[in-house]
Amino acid sequence: MPEHHVVLAGAEERPLTAIADYRAAGGYAQLAKARQMEPQQVIQELLDSNLRGRGGAFFATGRKASFIPRDSAKPVYLTVNADESEPGTFKDREIMLRVPHRLIEGCLITAHAIHSKNVFIYIRGEYLAEFEILRAALDEARAADLFDGVTVVLHRGAGAYICGEETGLLESLEGKRGQPRSKPPFPAISGLYASPTLINNVETVATVPKVLELGAAEYAKIGPPDSTGTRVFSLSGNVARGGNYELVNGTTLRELIYDFGGGIPDGRELKAIIPGGSSTPILTASEVDTPLDYDALTKAGTMFGSGAIIAIDDRCCMVQLGLRVAQFYMHESCGKCTPCRVGTRWMVQILHALEDGSAKQGDLDLLLDVCDRILGKCLCPLGDAAAMPVASYVNRFRKEFQEHIDHGACPYGGASSLEHVFAPVDQHHHSPVAAEVPV
Ligand code: SF4
Repeated sequence: MPEHHVVLAGAEERPLTAIADYRAAGGYAQLAKARQMEPQQVIQELLDSNLRGRGGAFFATGRKASFIPRDSAKPVYLTVNADESEPGTFKDREIMLRVPHRLIEGCLITAHAIHSKNVFIYIRGEYLAEFEILRAALDEARAADLFDGVTVVLHRGAGAYICGEETGLLESLEGKRGQPRSKPPFPAISGLYASPTLINNVETVATVPKVLELGAAEYAKIGPPDSTGTRVFSLSGNVARGGNYELVNGTTLRELIYDFGGGIPDGRELKAIIPGGSSTPILTASEVDTPLDYDALTKAGTMFGSGAIIAIDDRCCMVQLGLRVAQFYMHESCGKCTPCRVGTRWMVQILHALEDGSAKQGDLDLLLDVCDRILGKCLCPLGDAAAMPVASYVNRFRKEFQEHIDHGACPYGGASSLEHVFAPVDQHHHSPVAAEVPV
């Protein structure tokens, strides 16, 4: 089964970074078409395609655009979230490296759809190569007179995970400390500079020109009805060929890990799968036939998330995995609300005790209780992002956690494969740039 390129179409042989190459592949034709359409017609195409946001929440893109008021006396902003930081996720960088003009075309079409003349692309500070490629592409598009009065600002973040949360991103763009805002008001009404703001992920925006090119009806035929289209899946962990694979939604985890990823190396067995970035609840190896689509993953008790799949082999200690994930979220907590600021520290302390053999009977229930006191009680999704996966590790691998208490030590000793789980992906499927997995 081959990959199904929509977002990455045309960049199979070499990146479409030059505007001439992108145009030769049909690029910017959809922008011209969109500008002949009424803005509402463009939104209707997005609604009919059932394109859903690729950043993690999977909210309907057309519906989100329709929330932007038409008669705003204030400026309307489009903000592109390129602050890709969810551990295991490296697909937006692939899009920016290989098809930067498709992202720019998507920005200009979306700006037309919501009557916006102001676009901000907020790019993760660590993505220097992507920043430079995107900046060069913007310069080319500007020189080609494609902006039609739209201002596009490329803004580098300073390296905080929380600035990937939409309101934290807006605070950061305004020059403030990147801390989430309480909602409502939602950004569609009061976002950047208290004005109507649409915030979309890179992959979502880069898909927009392809929705217009194919037509909403044709696009909607790709994949299951509730998860139309493709996703660029980031595959990493204990897998032979990690990298980005653009596949039709509904492809199974087994197909991704074994057919595309070459399976689990060194003769090891698959033990578990993180299906949508580190914040999503884990699946066991017995669930490897679960399709990668919204409904199937929700039914399995987890989430589609950012489309980052991490394969975990039978050498990996689940306590160590939980500790590493909890440490990441503790470190990235902005500290604004107590359940997250304090709860993530409690989680790390208990997991440390489990790992070093000093945990007591009852500590597993205490850990689950701490997770429960975080879940749904925080200002932004970061608290849930810490509690959900760790609670799922305990619930699905409780025996292994209990062994740490009963034996007073980690049964894996120093032999866990955790370091390999979070190792950089050096066999990048599309790009020579190694994809670092930021944990
Ligand atoms: Fe900050 Fe965590 Fe509260 Fe989000 S959940 S606002 S990251 S303290």
